[in-house]
Formats: sequence, structure tokens, C-alpha cells
Amino acid sequence: MDLDSFKYFLIIDVEATCNNDDSFPVNEMEMIEIGAVLICADSLTKLDEFNTFIQPQRHPKLTDFCTNLTSITQHNVDHAPYYPEAINTFQNWLGNYHNYLFCSWGEYDKQQFEQDCAFHNVPYPIPAPHLNIKKQFSKTQKVRKRHGMAGALKLAQISLTGSHHRGIDDANNMIKLMPYVIGRKSI
Ligand code: AMP
Ligand code: MG
Repeated sequence: MDLDSFKYFLIIDVEATCNNDDSFPVNEMEMIEIGAVLICADSLTKLDEFNTFIQPQRHPKLTDFCTNLTSITQHNVDHAPYYPEAINTFQNWLGNYHNYLFCSWGEYDKQQFEQDCAFHNVPYPIPAPHLNIKKQFSKTQKVRKRHGMAGALKLAQISLTGSHHRGIDDANNMIKLMPYVIGRKSI
């Protein structure tokens, strides 16, 4: 993929319901937060951001494990829109921009959109190609291992700001890794 052909990189990190006791399967995980930052592909500086919590429908009560992992509380999701309404708001925001590449750390975030869209019977909302920036980071930096976002920050000696596993904080931390992802800087 020719990364130079895009005007913006749209970095998205989503959080979802989860457990550590198999109380529901991964194909029943539901999105509870979208964190998105839009950066200029030239300067890699942030131009805009979008953040929403989402109320899950199938497993509306968050597990303690999920709240501890993400720092997202029951109160946060109880007052949030359900997925179709949140997606509608997200799409209105996305409509302000063209010629962007959807970037996420791994394939998971894209797959979670596909899963929630199928469940709620709404179209997939992001009209852009997708780049797995976890894979791209390893490729550009010539490391065989696939590093988690926190591990990649450590390798690059960059501090993690905010709360790890909060979508908007994860997305903002990924901005700092983009010079390494696109090969402008080396670890
Ligand atoms: P992340 O972007 O790494 O914050 O993770 C996205 C989502 O994946 C989280 O909101 C959880 O639903 C799930 N997840 C991440 N790490 C774990 C884990 N260690 N155990 C179970 N689910 C996880
Ligand atoms: Mg995250």
C-alpha cells in the first residue's frame, strides 16, 4: 500500500465488553468505546478527535474485569447511546473528511466493527482502506515479533500517557508511534 497517497491517517482504537472467566464468548463481545484521532499524513499532527461510549445490549452489565482493564465504568455505558446511534454520530463526524487511511493496532478493531454491524444490522461505517499498524510497525522497524502498543512505546522509549485500554488514550498514544510505523524514525 502506498502510504504517501493519503492526506490523513485515522487512528481508531475500540474497547469492548470482556471477561476472564468464559462467561460469554468473543463473538458476543460488544463495543463500549470508540476512540478516534485524525492526523495529517505529512506532519503527523492531530487535527481532530472523536470519542464516544456505547451501551452494550447483549451483556449490559460490565464485568469487574472489564472495568478494571479499561477503566470504563457501568455509569459511563449506562448513559451512552446504543451502537446504531453511536455509529450514526461517528459517521457524521467521518463525513467531514476524505482521503484517509483507517489505521489500527492489529486487526481486532476492524473486526469488532464488523461484528457489531452484523449484530445490529447496520452497514460497516468506515469508507476507507484499513492498515494494520502493528504489522506495519514490525515490517518498517525490521523486527520479527509483533509488539503490543505498550511494548512498541517502550521499544521507542516513549511514555504511555493516559489510561492504557481506554480507546481515546490508546489512539492518542499511537500517534506517537506513527513516525516509526511509516519509517521516519527508527527504534
Ligand atoms: P485494547 O485496545 O488493547 O485496549 O483492547 C481492546 C479490547 O480487547 C478490550 O476492551 C477488551 O474487550 C479486549 N481485551 C484486551 N485485553 C484483554 C485481555 N487481557 N483479556 C480479555 N480481553 C481483553
Ligand atoms: Mg484500547
